[in-house]
Amino acid sequence: TPMIECKNVSKVYPDGTVGLKDINLTINKGEFVVVVGLSGAGKSTLLRSINRLQDVSGGEILIDGKSITAAKGKELRLIRRDIGMIFQSFNLVKRSSVLRNVLVGRVAYYPTWKTTFNLFSKEDKQKAYEALQQVGLAEKVYNRADELSGGQQQRVAIARVLEQNPKIILADEPTASLDPETSKRIMNDLKMLNEKYGMTVIANLHSVELAKEFGQRVIGIRAGQVVYDGKMSETPESV
Ligand code: ADP
Ligand code: ADP
Repeated sequence: TPMIECKNVSKVYPDGTVGLKDINLTINKGEFVVVVGLSGAGKSTLLRSINRLQDVSGGEILIDGKSITAAKGKELRLIRRDIGMIFQSFNLVKRSSVLRNVLVGRVAYYPTWKTTFNLFSKEDKQKAYEALQQVGLAEKVYNRADELSGGQQQRVAIARVLEQNPKIILADEPTASLDPETSKRIMNDLKMLNEKYGMTVIANLHSVELAKEFGQRVIGIRAGQVVYDGKMSETPESV
């Protein structure tokens, strides 16, 4: 069953730059998809369109059957709750504890005043500990986020997304600032979210090596268009 459907999606930036050009894609529940392409190909634009961090210029995107393109207000917030994000730069609250950073994954489930005063339920705090155990960071719970190494910070971001428990994870160059060995660990953690929790994962990667190793399905993008969609073993080097 489809989890993400892009129908004739295009994006033209205000300055006239073409970000995406008539993209048609269906990503099914439980897929692990890697998007590859050169810098400027449109990979980030695709992810930012899927969770509607930015509006598309044409076409429509459906998330689990619901149009995120047409959604407004509460409906949009509910769809977004099902989409977790992993960034190249981790996007942690640097001065907050690791535990608080993981709890951020639950904020969409609380009224703002409660999260401001850190009024998370016992259950959610327990889940946050467990999420940190999952990524091997149980002993760092009370450390400040900026005391951790880059690889550890990205694992905190993965624990945060586990705490959020979304249907979809969008990872935008999750390993771009990490060394090769740490990159593999992060990709394995994303695979764990996919295999153990059934989350549908899309990861943008510029490393063809990692795409080869982890992409069950690889989508190649060039100049805002899909130029390849298939198994990695068949992927041409030129994507
Ligand atoms: P990638 O993630 O593959 O590196 P992007 O999606 O970031 O590619 O960019 C696709 C194209 O859109 C590039 O030509 C880029 O310069 C352009 N672009 C991205 N963001 C903006 C923006 N906010 N304003 C104008 N052009 C943009
Ligand atoms: P880093 O390389 O990110 O600084 P460390 O090498 O300090 O991390 O690892 C800390 C602990 O976490 C080690 O016991 C290691 O086995 C474990 N660990 C590292 N990466 C992962 C991971 N991706 N998932 C689960 N446990 C991990």
